[in-house]
Amino acid sequence: MLTKTKIYLSSPHMGGAEQKFVNEAFDTNWIAPLGPNVDGFEKDIQNYVGKHTHVAVLSSGTAAIHLALQLLNVSKGDEVLCQSFTFSASANPIVYQGAVPVFIDSEPDTWNMSPELLEIAIKDRIEKYKKPKAIIAVHLYGMPYNANAINAIAQKYDIPVVEDSAEALGSHYFGKACGSLSDIGILSFNGNKIITTSGGGALIAHTEALKNKAVFLSTQARDNAPHYEHSAIGYNYRMSNVLAGIGRGQMEVLNERVAARRLNYEFYKKHLSKYPSISFLEEPEGSFSNRWITCVKTESFKLREQIRLELQQDDIESRPLWKPMHMQPIFKDCLHFTDGTSETLFDKGLCLPSGSNLTQEDLFRILDTITKTLNL
Ligand SMILES: *Cc1c(COP(=O)(O)O)cnc(C)c1O
Repeated sequence: MLTKTKIYLSSPHMGGAEQKFVNEAFDTNWIAPLGPNVDGFEKDIQNYVGKHTHVAVLSSGTAAIHLALQLLNVSKGDEVLCQSFTFSASANPIVYQGAVPVFIDSEPDTWNMSPELLEIAIKDRIEKYKKPKAIIAVHLYGMPYNANAINAIAQKYDIPVVEDSAEALGSHYFGKACGSLSDIGILSFNGNKIITTSGGGALIAHTEALKNKAVFLSTQARDNAPHYEHSAIGYNYRMSNVLAGIGRGQMEVLNERVAARRLNYEFYKKHLSKYPSISFLEEPEGSFSNRWITCVKTESFKLREQIRLELQQDDIESRPLWKPMHMQPIFKDCLHFTDGTSETLFDKGLCLPSGSNLTQEDLFRILDTITKTLNL
């Protein structure tokens, strides 16, 4: 019997030009966290998300969120409102700053931050003399959050928004690229993301000055002097020129990657939507998702587990949706404004293999395993 190869949830997918840029870095000895690939990759991202933006490439998406909070002067004791339904990296930098996370539940339409609960939380905190210092909203799985509503509330109360677009490069919202919709955007190029530099991230600012400040902090906060002079605490968060070379190659194929992932979603939807026990997250009007991961909501925890375990049996990786932060042991004592939406998604939702390098054969193999369970 032929042994089948393992199918992963989301694996790296190189385009071809990456090696050329990496070789250039070697040939010219630009191996440090500066050089032509760093500049080139920043330009490429800028051209993609909006010419008015100013981009700093960094060592990770988490580092980008950390710097974003510093640029917004989030400090010890401040409260930061954060989407609960997300990966822990959205929230951890709040704690790095000695600030306090307050978690906000999702809305059913986008699975992202509920504008209604956001406003309830802001009013509550202001009433208690704890006006939040920032909001962290997330385009989870590539689906844009309700930015019109979230930005309107943020403006009404004058609170800046950090846009966690780690999963949403290539998504857009009423014609504007995710990452450029709010005060400061961040991207991730971790190995599982829609494009990767093996590890990396970016901060998207709207002024040159803010970008320069991010670069300054990310390169050990060196003041202008011949010796090493410091009047601020710095970080070693800049992206290396070698990895930026991978990024430049990946930018050449980003749109192809988005198209391939959207086709995965279409495939699953076409074949599975006839089952009433399965539902999909649709794009609301004005939203275009990169469909980084295709997720389904099943009718019960039991069915979700049956499908997940059956896939595992067949060496196919799938995963429950993100466990909300307010349910995590480390954050369980944090204040949260929730209505059960993300808890239900965690209970019944499943991420299906969604790599842009899946073959038709892979997709049918996954489908067969799922339908076998559904037809039981
Ligand atoms: C991946 C991810 C991050 C962190 O990015 P890294 O580059 O892995 O540090 C942050 N937020 C979300 C929603 C993510 O998926």
